[in-house]
Amino acid sequence: MGDGDTLFDALVIGAGPAGVSAALRLQQLGHSVLLVERSAVWPRAQVGEALTPGVRNIIELLDANDALAEVPHVAHAGSRVLWRSRTPDLLQQAGSAIVDRGRFDAALLALARRRGVELEQPARLLHLAGAAGDWRASLLCAETRCRQVRARYILDASGRGAASRIDCAPRLAAIWGEVDQSALAQLDGATQVEALEHGWLWAGCLPGRRYRLMLVCDPHAARQAGTAAPEARLRAACANSQLLRAAAGLPLLGAVQMCSATPYLAPDSWQDGRLKLGDAAFALDPVSSSGVEKAMRFSLQAAVALHTVLGDERPERHALARRFFEGRLVEACARHAHWTEAYYGQAWCADQPFWQARARCEAVGDGAERPELLAALSTERARLAGYQPPELKPLAGLNPARPLRLHGGAAIVELPCVVDDRVCLQQALDHPHLERPLAFLENEALFPHLARLAQPLPLAQLLQMLADCMPGHKAERIAAWLWQRGLLESVG
Ligand SMILES: Cc1cc2nc3c(=O)[nH]c(=O)nc-3n(C[C@H](O)[C@H](O)[C@H](O)COP(=O)(O)OP(=O)(O)OC[C@H]3O[C@@H](n4cnc5c(N)ncnc54)[C@H](O)[C@@H]3O)c2cc1C
Repeated sequence: MGDGDTLFDALVIGAGPAGVSAALRLQQLGHSVLLVERSAVWPRAQVGEALTPGVRNIIELLDANDALAEVPHVAHAGSRVLWRSRTPDLLQQAGSAIVDRGRFDAALLALARRRGVELEQPARLLHLAGAAGDWRASLLCAETRCRQVRARYILDASGRGAASRIDCAPRLAAIWGEVDQSALAQLDGATQVEALEHGWLWAGCLPGRRYRLMLVCDPHAARQAGTAAPEARLRAACANSQLLRAAAGLPLLGAVQMCSATPYLAPDSWQDGRLKLGDAAFALDPVSSSGVEKAMRFSLQAAVALHTVLGDERPERHALARRFFEGRLVEACARHAHWTEAYYGQAWCADQPFWQARARCEAVGDGAERPELLAALSTERARLAGYQPPELKPLAGLNPARPLRLHGGAAIVELPCVVDDRVCLQQALDHPHLERPLAFLENEALFPHLARLAQPLPLAQLLQMLADCMPGHKAERIAAWLWQRGLLESVG
């Protein structure tokens, strides 16, 4: 049997956090994976070193704690943030860290190999033929050897650069350089974030005594103003800042770099037999420093969608997995855009054009091929914008003598959810007091139990009904949670 006869369940292109997370999760779920990474330099340089606390539980789920223990990192010493006013705030974010991203990615990849994921590196895809379920890929390995492989699914995790995209906000560019940490001893270990009239600055210590200075700005505005080279723009921004003035004239360690930082969604992320992951599917505004976490999380969700269709090829399963995948994609982008708009709107200089354009923006661009995805994005953003958390009702108002039923404004909807590592349709509660429809609370399915509350039910019976399937204290907490948010009402 030739190599071209081996049928991999997934061929993953790109060994960044998105590609490797998907590979590890698919391998955990029992699938064969071939990973292709084009970079011959490994560990390779990569921006995106500040990791948010949520990365930790993803690492746990992938059982990767030990593998990452040796990755050089700087424990987060808090952030000095000059944003809402001209006086900086010192913020702590427990659980976040700044890592050597090249080494972080390399350690994850080494783990994937140890677990049985096959790797071709350096290698790239030359040609793809066939169709979903049986792709035939020609790979060029180490620039010398051609390898033919077959794969049921292709996962594109090749990073930023989607050709077809919906921009979720106006264009952004990032310009960064590094200086020696010892030259900025007065700055302590805290990360510095500062809003300037025409953009914002991020600066912080990296492993290896390097200190990163990064400016995020509007690429068009800088060009129109005839502002000179990126290095001059970075230095000018530091000189105009309050927190980083001392860095403006320091010698740089290497050349200044620049890249696009525009947040976007690739509308063709799910095609028949071909899925996009991580930055290939969506990119976030770097202001939240959560790109790696969201890329990894989406890969885990995509792996479950793929596991669902690999195990059951019926068209309805396929449609459900796709609905789940695209729902998570839209949700990730809409939530982030909603948060970002509010954050930009809070800046001390929010009356400046750079900030105004980003504090209230519509998704624009290449939605023509998937107008329903663009529509889903605006619906989700409108829902988030209109959502007001309810005032919690006192528990004392819950009178055991009066029967309870679901509030008149509640609706029961069907939602694609993950149950036992597969996507399935689950009933969920929807209500204006909920930010999104709710299928599970405290890891317990709410339905079919709550369906009985279409008719009034005494509190004792409701608690008994819930306690038949879960510990009694959980049943009490769930009933209280629903009551406090006005999702239950007393009758009579
Ligand atoms: C300026 C800037 C600052 C950021 N700062 C942060 C931050 O502080 N914290 C954070 O969490 N996120 C940050 N991000 C976002 C973060 O870097 C990305 O979200 C993250 O790297 C996405 O991971 P990925 O695996 O999708 O892509 P990548 O990390 O880009 O990995 C893609 C991989 O695919 C490989 N590849 C590309 N093409 C091919 C091909 N044809 N064949 C084979 N292999 C290929 C590449 O070599 C690479 O290894 C930042 C982004 C920008 C632009």
